[in-house]
Amino acid sequence: MPITDSYNRKIEYLRISLTDRCNMRCTYCMPPEGVNLIPHYEVLHYGEIREIVRAGAWLGIRSVRLTGGEPTVRRDLPRLVGMLKEVDGIEEVTMTTNALLLSKLAKELKGAGLDRVNISLDSLRPDRFFEITRGGDLRAVLEGVDAALEAGLSPVKLNAVIIPEFNDDEVEDMARLTFDRPLHVRYIEFMPIGDLRLHKEKKFIKAAELIERLKKVFELETVEKGAGMGPAKTFKIKGAIGTIGFISSMSDHFCGSCNRLRLSSDGWLRSCLFNEKLGVDMKTPIREGASLEELKELFMKAAGIKPEGHELDRRAELDFERTMSQIGG
Ligand code: SAM
Ligand code: SF4
Repeated sequence: MPITDSYNRKIEYLRISLTDRCNMRCTYCMPPEGVNLIPHYEVLHYGEIREIVRAGAWLGIRSVRLTGGEPTVRRDLPRLVGMLKEVDGIEEVTMTTNALLLSKLAKELKGAGLDRVNISLDSLRPDRFFEITRGGDLRAVLEGVDAALEAGLSPVKLNAVIIPEFNDDEVEDMARLTFDRPLHVRYIEFMPIGDLRLHKEKKFIKAAELIERLKKVFELETVEKGAGMGPAKTFKIKGAIGTIGFISSMSDHFCGSCNRLRLSSDGWLRSCLFNEKLGVDMKTPIREGASLEELKELFMKAAGIKPEGHELDRRAELDFERTMSQIGG
């Protein structure tokens, strides 16, 4: 039975944050010292995640994405992938990762049933990458990209958050990655979560501006929307193998077609990335022995409180205290 929310959107997609821990410290995402971490006993176990996904699948969830923090720092990750892939109704298990550990894990994850990965890659210059991620090794990440392609975790998408005077001089080089390999570069607008100082300094570039800029350098052909393409506006550079896409979460938001719920690592099922208050606690009931029927009711409740839109442009003050790594990006 598919669930729809109060605005008649079909809820089919669940993003699951496996942890708030991370092996990088991206400057726009986390403070250098890291964040206050959730104690281990508060973090959902794999069995608990599977029960919540079973309830969701019963109500129409078809696709789950593992994220974090960094999902690959969770021990024995292929086991969870296998458990979720076996849930009746789940058609696709995907992951968003910084890929630092992916070269070692890609094959095993694919074997366990992982369908595809989104890899975050904000710079192609080793020094800048090191700086942005506060210590990340670009070579290891690029090896992770190779491993993902080799393992068939495709389509492999490379996500870059573009911030002026930070990495916007690399958008053309990033697009060139699509020339001879099936890589799908997606430029993401910076959202007011994490380091709000960058926002207050108006460090923001619209997807539409980037499209115009790239059109001056490359001949772009529009790619029609297909399954699994998500909310990106997608183009192909003439003759390229991969694609480039633009995600305008801020300048032209896609709340009207948002089909997702989010599960935090401490068990809150939230209906909107931008509203921490709109959530339902799943962990307490599940630890108190809630039945599948009761979990389904809670799922319905989370869908029922999904707002029509994020209304960020109408809020007087930005008030996000938590980082994307804590919310689950
Ligand atoms: N650690 C994994 C990774 O980096 O891919 C998964 C979690 S991370 C929070 C998920 C995505 O959120 C990354 O692509 C990251 O660049 C993005 N992100 C973090 N803070 C953001 C912000 N303020 N605006 C837009 N994207 C952001
Ligand atoms: Fe970690 Fe991902 Fe945040 Fe970077 S963006 S600090 S890799 S959670």
